Amino acid sequence: MTQNVAKLVFWGVRGSTPTLERETWRYGGNTPCVEVTAPGGVRFILDCGTGLRMLGNKWILLNGDTPTEAHILITHYHWDHIQGIPFFHPFYQSQGHFHFYGFQSKPLGPDSLRQVFEAQLASPYFPAGTSTMTALRSFREIAGGEKWEIQGTRVSAAWVNHPQGCLGYRLDMPVGSIVYATDNEPGVPELDRSLRQFAHGADVLIYDAQYSPEQLSSTRKGWGHSSWLEGVKIARDSKVKNLILFHHDPDSSDSTVDGFLSAARQEFPGTWAATEGMSVTLSERGVNVALRNSRMGQRRRLRFTATVSGQSDSGDQFEEKATVRDLSLQGAYLFLNSRPRLQSELRVVIEATGDQNRSSVLSLRGTVVHCQSGREKNQNGVGVLFIEESDPDPPRD
Ligand SMILES: [Zn+2]
Ligand SMILES: [Zn+2]
Repeated sequence: MTQNVAKLVFWGVRGSTPTLERETWRYGGNTPCVEVTAPGGVRFILDCGTGLRMLGNKWILLNGDTPTEAHILITHYHWDHIQGIPFFHPFYQSQGHFHFYGFQSKPLGPDSLRQVFEAQLASPYFPAGTSTMTALRSFREIAGGEKWEIQGTRVSAAWVNHPQGCLGYRLDMPVGSIVYATDNEPGVPELDRSLRQFAHGADVLIYDAQYSPEQLSSTRKGWGHSSWLEGVKIARDSKVKNLILFHHDPDSSDSTVDGFLSAARQEFPGTWAATEGMSVTLSERGVNVALRNSRMGQRRRLRFTATVSGQSDSGDQFEEKATVRDLSLQGAYLFLNSRPRLQSELRVVIEATGDQNRSSVLSLRGTVVHCQSGREKNQNGVGVLFIEESDPDPPRD
């Protein structure tokens, strides 16, 4: 990481509990974990939800046995923010050094953070105790209103409104500022005001947008969370440049989150919806957002023309002819005279006519998942699920 770039990566964006349902795959089902690499390479982790496991695997892959040092800022001790701790492999590497920051919980008293950590790994909840975690761990108790400096990054903490307490964090770096304010319910005037001051002028505000505004004012009132509309109000009042909707409800499908995002963008164009693998780069050229591995299913190269319409970066509508160069494929429904056996293999070869009479041939292997006799004109209706085959030259996202 160079001196003048900071990078933020989302490893978990889901609130409350992880989700595995297909309808939540696009935004992702892991609970909160955000990695920030500050200019000069200092590493921060915001919350230790289930996304932390994948972050650990990436660091092991990149660094091997080289010990890792990171500063871990915990907002609060609800399960969704600490559940990844036992599964973060770098904790089991000696010579690694991790600095934890969190608040003193009322029921636990002094040394809360260490207690939470150790209780989570205690018998009978986990097979190995903390003694197996050989990395050096240090714990620092902090409170809202505190500010401190870590190798050129100014860190601040602020109380937000959540059952049993919660902290928001702000990282001010030479290239810009990030505010992480999740698990917050608006409605306490003093905290609503202080959050606006805390977020003032931030380049990126990551904010709790778990519920719809309607849910927040009725069935989910008092549950400790917020909505995209509150996020928009804070972003506007605080002159934030980019608002990232975060902590998606486990019962929100991808299309529900799509709806929140598009409603928020009508009010505040610089809005994004946090997605697993999404990265945000801050540099002197501004803020750049990128998605990774966002198209699921198998990818196949082919070539055909299509009419594409949508909205440009500047908000204008466009429509143009384009050449499609690859497609993601999951399955197909076909009518066949033959009656293939359920769970048997099918080969489907599709020819697509492209521009300038060039054509592509797609050869796909699938498994029969459905077969209905005489579905149409005595033909059988056949459902096929394509089997993942490695593409020798995978296309880029
Ligand atoms: Zn949470
Ligand atoms: Zn919580």
